Amino acid sequence: VVDLGMPTRSVITTCAYCGVGCSFKAELRGDELVRMVPHKDGGANEGHSCVKGRFAFGYATHPDRKLKPMVRDRITDPWREVEWDEAIGTVARRFREIQGRYGSGAIGAISSSRCTNEEVYVVQKMVRAAFGNNNIDTCARVCHSPTGYGLKQTFGESAGTQDFRSVAEADVIVVIGANPTDGHPVFASRMKRRLREGAELIVVDPRRIDLVRSPHIEARHHLQLRPSTNVAVVNAMAHVVVTEGLTDENFVAERCEGYEEWAEFVARPENSPEATEEVSGVPASELRAAARLYASADNGAIYYGLGVTEHSQGSTMVMGMANLAMACGNIGRDGVGVNPLRGQNNVQGSCDMGSFPHELPGYRHISDDAVRGVFENLWGSALLPEPGLRIPNMFDAAIDGDFRGLFVHGEDIAQSDPNLQHVTAALEAMELVVVQDLFLNETAKYAHVFLPGASFLEKDGTFTNAERRVNRVRSVMPPKAGKHEWQIVCEIATAMGYAMDYDHPSQIMDEIASVTPTFAGVSFDLIDKLGSIQWPCNEEAPEGTPTMHVDAFTRGKGKFVVTSYVPTNERSTRRFPLVLTTGRILSQYNVGAQTRRTGNVAWHPEDILEVHPHDAEERGITDGDLVTLSSRVGATTLHAQISDRMPPGVVYTTFHHPVTGANVVTTENSDWATNCPEYKVTAVQVGLAPKA
Ligand code: SF4
Repeated sequence: VVDLGMPTRSVITTCAYCGVGCSFKAELRGDELVRMVPHKDGGANEGHSCVKGRFAFGYATHPDRKLKPMVRDRITDPWREVEWDEAIGTVARRFREIQGRYGSGAIGAISSSRCTNEEVYVVQKMVRAAFGNNNIDTCARVCHSPTGYGLKQTFGESAGTQDFRSVAEADVIVVIGANPTDGHPVFASRMKRRLREGAELIVVDPRRIDLVRSPHIEARHHLQLRPSTNVAVVNAMAHVVVTEGLTDENFVAERCEGYEEWAEFVARPENSPEATEEVSGVPASELRAAARLYASADNGAIYYGLGVTEHSQGSTMVMGMANLAMACGNIGRDGVGVNPLRGQNNVQGSCDMGSFPHELPGYRHISDDAVRGVFENLWGSALLPEPGLRIPNMFDAAIDGDFRGLFVHGEDIAQSDPNLQHVTAALEAMELVVVQDLFLNETAKYAHVFLPGASFLEKDGTFTNAERRVNRVRSVMPPKAGKHEWQIVCEIATAMGYAMDYDHPSQIMDEIASVTPTFAGVSFDLIDKLGSIQWPCNEEAPEGTPTMHVDAFTRGKGKFVVTSYVPTNERSTRRFPLVLTTGRILSQYNVGAQTRRTGNVAWHPEDILEVHPHDAEERGITDGDLVTLSSRVGATTLHAQISDRMPPGVVYTTFHHPVTGANVVTTENSDWATNCPEYKVTAVQVGLAPKA
């Protein structure tokens, strides 16, 4: 219920949903938030917003919120409310006891892309300096870790190349494995404006997303590929570019390396459109025409999402797109680029802040002695040079008995991660699970300590959006549970014997800037003055960098990488003949912990399985039937919707509700380079659910 009463004051802050990072005026009457008004000076949104940012803030005051710390000895015991001192003392003592029994590497933490840069920074610092290991990972592991890997290998920087404004200069827009209308609505509006002005559109997606045909917009090409064949398709497009002489030879000669070997590779017959038609199901003529359209554009821009990254070849595909863009000279100016549409509000920032087990802030490898020395001097603590455990490694080690304690900061891994049977078995095997969150979420069912977190309205800090824009998040109200999240983390570290203390999150950002070259010029004062800052921001770019790789790539020369297509291990079988792929809807967000608690009855109430009419008829399924969705790892029940948006043989659902639990069926398959789960490809069967 949204109260439209007259406000008496306002605070400018940033939406905490998606990676667009819209700026809002939070308008209050006294201490009560009455509405969120999109801020016309917001760098990412320029006065626009979507339904979530504007209306879905009621979760911050929802009665489900837990405002007292709670502890229990066993997960079958009832929770006992305690004061902060006891909760923090319990966490510190029990983590230390575990380390005493099993070694310092037996504990770790998972940080969240929902949290501020400053919160993420102190979590990874706590792990490295207080836990004494590198067992820190982030939820970006399960979404955009291949982006970080692939763009670093090819361009030298783990981030998108453009600002959102750039799309207004694109002549051909390629959308691969993303559904901006639902996932990134405000950016989608910018893109649609450009498409209505006449830019051409190529969509590469197994699903007929709205963008393919919407008012005044019609994609010139919809490459409706079979799930898991992205790399074959991008290689086929590159084949056309190379064999038909469409390469931007000057750009390649002056700016890149490795072209000859790559060109020889993509020119091979197995990468031809004809061979790729067999693999992907996309007609060769469509592949050729799409490649020619992109390559001949004055400005061709690629935008992509989790339909690229969440595959066993997610990293390969990111590099494949980078290869294609470089071959066509589509890097380094407005209207071009390779642009990840980041999911959560601070995916970019959580990666920037060093919350990977192998990288310190600024994407510098933990094994680099010089870099590690900078942090050791500043923090006064010796750091291990070996990378720590990734999230799936933590789960495996827990089941093996080698990993016993986990701090989960603002994530619901018992709903969001794949193969939930494995995740929950790992959580059950641990001696201490600490959950810091707003709600007793699915993961908290396995927790021994619950620490109440702060909603975005109570946070003070920064989020970094998909275009590297660092936005201020300003406190609209004090933390309801009495502590800022960065304070809680600092107090745990201090109780474990490593003193961490800041008076204000601006001091944390100052520390980040002092040790992270791409953030060297960033400060709260400068953000307040400029409105926002796109990193890199340093001596060479004192007001930030909207477009990257303008004169040279961050790594010097852009690097072509041979991207061989390797079929996924996840094969359809007689028992599981269909392929499941997953996505989001506009009105819900990820695990739905926030959007399901907004008090708005219009929110989509359940996850639905889209089934093609052909597959439905074969199984006797009609619209609205309750069906069982099963894979080799598990089964769940949900309602079917007959839809021809997917091709025959492919079914589709979302993962916003714990009851329907799509991740009960997703598997352990993951990206070869980063372990990002292959959420987008699961061999499944669908059948009418047994009558109750
Ligand atoms: Fe929030 Fe994203 Fe919607 Fe903007 S587009 S209001 S950041 S959910």
